[in-house]
Amino acid sequence: MSQLILNRRHFIAGTAGFFALHPFSANAAANQAHLRLMETTDLHVHIFPYDYYADRPRDTLGLSRTASIIAEIRGEATNSMLVDNGDFLQGNPMGDYIAYERGMAEGDMHPIIQAMNAVGYDAATIGNHEFNYGLDFLMKSMAGADFEVVLSNVEKLGGASLFKPYTIVDKEVTDGNGRTHTVKVGFIGFTPVQIMNWDRRHLEGKVQALDIVNTAKRYVPEMKEAGADIIVALSHSGIGAAEQVEMMANASVPLAAVDGIDAIMTGHSHQVFPSASYKDFTAVDAAAGTIHGKPATMGGFWGSHLGVVDLMLEFEAGEVRVVGHGSEARPISKRNEDRSITALVTDNEAVLDSVRTEHEETLAYVRRAVGKTDAPLHSYFALVADDPSVQIVSIAQLWYIEQMLKGSEYEGLPILSAAAPFKAGGRGGPEYFTDVPKGDVAIKNVSDLYLYPNTARAVLVTGQQVKDWLERSAGMFNQVEPGKADQVLLNPSFPSYNFDVIDGVTYQIDLSQPSKYDPRGELINADANRIVNLMFDGAPLDLAQKFVIATNNYRAGGGGNFPGAGGDTIIFEAPDTNRDVIVRYIVEQGTISPKADANWTFAPLGGATVLFDTGPKAKAYADDVPGVQIEEAGEGPDGFARFRIQL
Ligand code: MN
Ligand code: MG
Repeated sequence: MSQLILNRRHFIAGTAGFFALHPFSANAAANQAHLRLMETTDLHVHIFPYDYYADRPRDTLGLSRTASIIAEIRGEATNSMLVDNGDFLQGNPMGDYIAYERGMAEGDMHPIIQAMNAVGYDAATIGNHEFNYGLDFLMKSMAGADFEVVLSNVEKLGGASLFKPYTIVDKEVTDGNGRTHTVKVGFIGFTPVQIMNWDRRHLEGKVQALDIVNTAKRYVPEMKEAGADIIVALSHSGIGAAEQVEMMANASVPLAAVDGIDAIMTGHSHQVFPSASYKDFTAVDAAAGTIHGKPATMGGFWGSHLGVVDLMLEFEAGEVRVVGHGSEARPISKRNEDRSITALVTDNEAVLDSVRTEHEETLAYVRRAVGKTDAPLHSYFALVADDPSVQIVSIAQLWYIEQMLKGSEYEGLPILSAAAPFKAGGRGGPEYFTDVPKGDVAIKNVSDLYLYPNTARAVLVTGQQVKDWLERSAGMFNQVEPGKADQVLLNPSFPSYNFDVIDGVTYQIDLSQPSKYDPRGELINADANRIVNLMFDGAPLDLAQKFVIATNNYRAGGGGNFPGAGGDTIIFEAPDTNRDVIVRYIVEQGTISPKADANWTFAPLGGATVLFDTGPKAKAYADDVPGVQIEEAGEGPDGFARFRIQL
């Protein structure tokens, strides 16, 4: 069987420690048992290997695929247990369909819980996203779980627990001699305390979140006292700094240092552990797969990997000791050199069968209207004029960041919003544009509006950085000679996703000036000023004033090398994708009004004209482009249509 060969390879390649030399449980001695702990994490309702936004299958995701690896491990390992590390209820259109459309009445089953029951879990913890639809929805969803649910660091006001903080499971294991032993396996769950900000409207006045590491120190001795032989932390928290800071979000490293914890299952950051991404982290051995010397794993996201921790247990005089360990993360697919994807496993049919109805319902949901737009959402003129497809992203980001900063020290600061056209022709060709007509908006249209699975961010910048941010964007254009006819407008080596438009200010772009930055963001003309008449609130923008800019993790983290966005200005890291923000905005508003407000235009240049190529379908909208004088100018190359703009 080819799957067996694949797994053997992964085992040898990915398994660290002594298991690399003794790969199978057959190696357990008479008084030893091999226990294999498997982890899924951050499933985000991905069961079918299907991208509902794009409305097409994908080999990189889906619990139905991860379940095949699980089934195989169960076939080969004498003793195994399966846990989930949280973030399973929200994060794709199936999750939104259940929350916004079908609902969770008393006794209803949530499809992800149905699928997890079909796979068969021992325990799970609660991720931050489980709180996104409120406590009532969460509790009704979890009521259907055939597995233990643990969460130690969130409690109701007054101290009663929301879920069991921990559980101790009697696990029958078979040793190297074929004798059975009962091992008391303790599971304790943790989630980021930041849920109190992220889901304030659902949680305030109802529950409180407690520091992860302090909570572990409180409960782990209690678990030992209650007879736990080994303790496994289900940490829906990333692998981050080694130093404990009160209320830190990514606390898995200091958590691993807590005495009594034997293994750490991690998640939340959608990364893979062990992997080279963690090679420079203090107290982390990215090759051995340990944190503070204890085995750890992180199984990617959306079912992309199965995290595995192997423990060799030794029984002596009634005691159970961990005498060896290994860890790995097994992928469900691989990316080839030509960037194509090859599936490494097939679907588990029982898992697919468990949610076929909900899958069909979700397909219908993404294909039908969930809201309306009273203006067409297209990107044909996104590079030459303020544009509705960019405007809607800006509006939704602004709406979201405003809510998120409420109650923070940044509340009340002016909030601007930066967004760029992702689909704007270029190398993508003349059809590569966003084009959603006026009227109904379906969920699958949202992927067209926001192509990348970015997450929302807010940065704190000065007025000077706002201006330079726009100068950086204005590198999109070639320099134009005043008065001269038919000059080429766009610099083809400048990607459209780096053409950020900032809403909340008004400005003009003076194309007679050279660009201040080159296409990679290097400063080339320090004194150039393409951005003119930059105004905020009806007055010239004060370069010393502080502004918040709503953007995404790519930009805020230094993507595109933008001034004021080098990773050091981030004041808010959202748990939500920009796409989720747009969906929520549309669902809550019902009808959206993304009409562009022409907050930016080109400065007049004595009648100079420039040529610009876009999709031929642009002709239908050419009369309605705000703030620019535009006319058809024949055909461009490769099926593009040419337009002339008078400056
Ligand atoms: Mn997640
Ligand atoms: Mg999370």
